[in-house]
Order: sequence, then structure tokens, then C-alpha cells
Amino acid sequence: MADEDRLRSVDEHLAIVLDGIGSIEPIEVTLLDAQGLLLAENVVTDIPLPSFDNSAMDGYAVRAVDTRSASAEHLVEMPVVGDVLAGATSRAGMGPGLAMRIMTGAPIPAGADAVIPLEDTDRGVARVRIGRPVRTGECVRRTGEDLAAGALALGAGAALGPQQIALLAAIGRDRVVVRPRPRVLVISTGSELVEVGQVPSFGEVTDSNSYLIATAAKDAGADARRIGIVPDDHSKLLDVLENQLLRADVLVTTGGVSMGAFDVVKQALSELGTVEFVQVAMQPGKPQGFGHLGNRVPIFCLPGNPVSALVSFEVFVRPAIRKLLGKRSVQRATVQAIALEGARSPAGRRQYRRGVLHREANGGYSVSFAGGAASHLIASMASANCLVVIDESVTEIVAGSRVTVIPLLLSNR
Ligand code: AMP
Ligand code: MG
Repeated sequence: MADEDRLRSVDEHLAIVLDGIGSIEPIEVTLLDAQGLLLAENVVTDIPLPSFDNSAMDGYAVRAVDTRSASAEHLVEMPVVGDVLAGATSRAGMGPGLAMRIMTGAPIPAGADAVIPLEDTDRGVARVRIGRPVRTGECVRRTGEDLAAGALALGAGAALGPQQIALLAAIGRDRVVVRPRPRVLVISTGSELVEVGQVPSFGEVTDSNSYLIATAAKDAGADARRIGIVPDDHSKLLDVLENQLLRADVLVTTGGVSMGAFDVVKQALSELGTVEFVQVAMQPGKPQGFGHLGNRVPIFCLPGNPVSALVSFEVFVRPAIRKLLGKRSVQRATVQAIALEGARSPAGRRQYRRGVLHREANGGYSVSFAGGAASHLIASMASANCLVVIDESVTEIVAGSRVTVIPLLLSNR
């Protein structure tokens, strides 16, 4: 049997991963913390919007019937019996044949049924002259015309962006029940690793993966934290994982999942029997570990090369985070682009190449490659803004052909 035959496909592994991702208990948060999350309750409003009849314009509150005979040639003149300001807390009243000066947002006085805008009058203070008939209800914002009392303001599953949060504020909800941000804890494994800021000795490598994955997870919507570095040591790894278990909705490790004698993550976690290590038909990112710890917390064990870690995160972990957030679409959007150069790709493996996506004058996209197929190139990874996907069946793409690209857009959440 050829080696490739034993590989699990990317789609199959993703399906297994997503199947192993449950949901997190909804929590109540304050409005500003709800941004970007999904509502987990139906929100019914107690109050109507608007909550009282009010003026849409600065003008004069009148009875429409009193203006019926008004025209440019025959102005109707009325006494102005007072002012109604926005914020007036008691309802003014006025008799027939009279007018009140009113501000935008101020309550319509009892006895009035329309507002004539200032600019359609002589703007008089003691008396006002009106040169056209006013329709009943003109310039009046009706109680409940936006949302009636007792109506559903937002349904469970609604995505809470600025407009939805404004609506919740408007109806007086200062806290809402949402799908929470999953707590993602990130651990770098490797005895060669040192903390950023520490000067590495010969043979030591500064840990960048935990920064990569923690920020990528945060960008995907998670509440992500880096736990730090764990050396290639069986019991130290298991200790750290056990300590973090209660604090995590998802655990992510990098490193130590290859075939080497010191690939401790694979050795230690395989023994538990709840984490599976497989070879996935992709490049980079072939060795993948996924399973659960404490029967509950999903754990991703990603390969240690930085580009492999990024690609593995994008292909498997990001969709899992999106699923936990309750998002309907867990995948990033793709675009089609013209390849500006050719590339080779191994048969039977889905290749993810780093690329630089350009927007052409005609509105289409073109893409060039950044950094070849090697997975240790951190600087070229930093110059990329997309991943180019080369399918399993494709072994070569030629310059000028159309390719599928995943733009790595920042969410600015
Ligand atoms: P591994 O998957 O543990 O065999 O590591 C593969 C390569 O990735 C090695 O060259 C490691 O030094 C490098 N590497 C592993 N973990 C990290 C990390 N956290 N930050 C930067 N490079 C890493
Ligand atoms: Mg290692």
C-alpha cells in the first residue's frame, strides 16, 4: 500500500474535529461585552419604540383640521401658546385653533395631531403664520411604530453587532444572554524553546507559536491565553494540561507530534486513549492530534513548525472556535485569483501555500507566492496575507491559471 493511501483527508479530519466540538453554556454579559457574539435568548421588549408620540421636526404642533384652508395666498395665523422641549416629562396640552412650538423628539401635546416644520412657517414667536395645509399625523413619530410593546426585538441566534446592541440599549436591556467566547489555552512544547525577550543560547529557539496561535484564536473570536512553554517531558506536559483543564474550553499545543523519539506530546497523549494522532493528506500540517481531555475539553495538538501551526490552526482550530461561538458559517470566505507564478504540489495532498493577494484594477484578484513550500519560514509567513489552496488532485499550477485563495482578513473584533 502506498504511503498516501493511509492519510486521512483534510475534509474527513475536519468533519471528525467538528463532530467532537460541543457547545458552551450560555452566559449573561453586559451590552458592551456582547459585541460580536450570538444572542442565546429571545429578547422581547416591554416598552414600545418610540415610547411616546413625538415630533420628527423642529416646528409647531397644530391640529391638522385648523390648517385646512391655508395656502400661499391665504395664510392661517394661530397664537403660539408655549414651547415643548425634548426631555419634557409631562405632556403639554393645547386647545383648538392654537399652536405650540416644538423641538425634534419632544412629546406631541395633547390636542395636537401634526407638526408643521419651522421652515414652512414664518417662525413667529407669539403668533405663527402657516401657508399650507398640514396632514393629520404629519411629522409625528408614532408610539410603537418601530417596535410594539411585547414584540420580539431580537431572536436567539442573532449576531450582535453595533445596530443590534443599540436596539438592546434602546429597549432598556443592559445585560443579555449570549454564547460566550470559548476560552482557548495555548501551550508551546519543545525543550529548545525559550521565552521571548530571553537571549537564546546556541540551539535554542524563541517561542513564537504560542503568540501566533493565541492571537489567531483571539482573532477568530476566542478568549485566548498563552500558557507558555513546556519542555519535552512526559510528566511535565501531563501536569500542565491537567492544571489548565478546568480553565479551558479548548486546549491547543504545538510541537512534538511527529515521528521523532522525543515527540512527547504524541507519546504522552496517545497513552491516555482519548487523543488520536493521525496523518492528514495536507502540506504543511500532516501530523495532527485531536481528541478530548477529562472527557470534555477538546485538545488540538498541532505540529511545531510555525507555518504548519498556522495552517493547521486555520484549517481545523478556527472552524472549531467558530462552531463554539455558534456561528452558522465556520469557514473563512474564499476568493478566486489568477496565479502570477506557477507552483508544484505533491499528489494526493492538499497544499496550502502562503500568498500575497492583490486587487487588480478590474476588480479581480491576483496572487503571488510568499516563501515556497517550506514550513519554517516565519518572515515570509509575516509577508503573506492569504493562503493559496492547491487541491489534492493538482500537481502543478501554471502562471495565469485560476486558484482558490483564503484571505487572512483580520476581524478587528
Ligand atoms: P516539532 O514539531 O516539535 O518537531 O518542531 C518542529 C520545528 O518547529 C522545530 O524546528 C522547532 O524548533 C520549531 N518549533 C517548535 N515549536 C516552536 C515554537 N513554539 N515556536 C517556534 N518554533 C517552534
Ligand atoms: Mg519539538
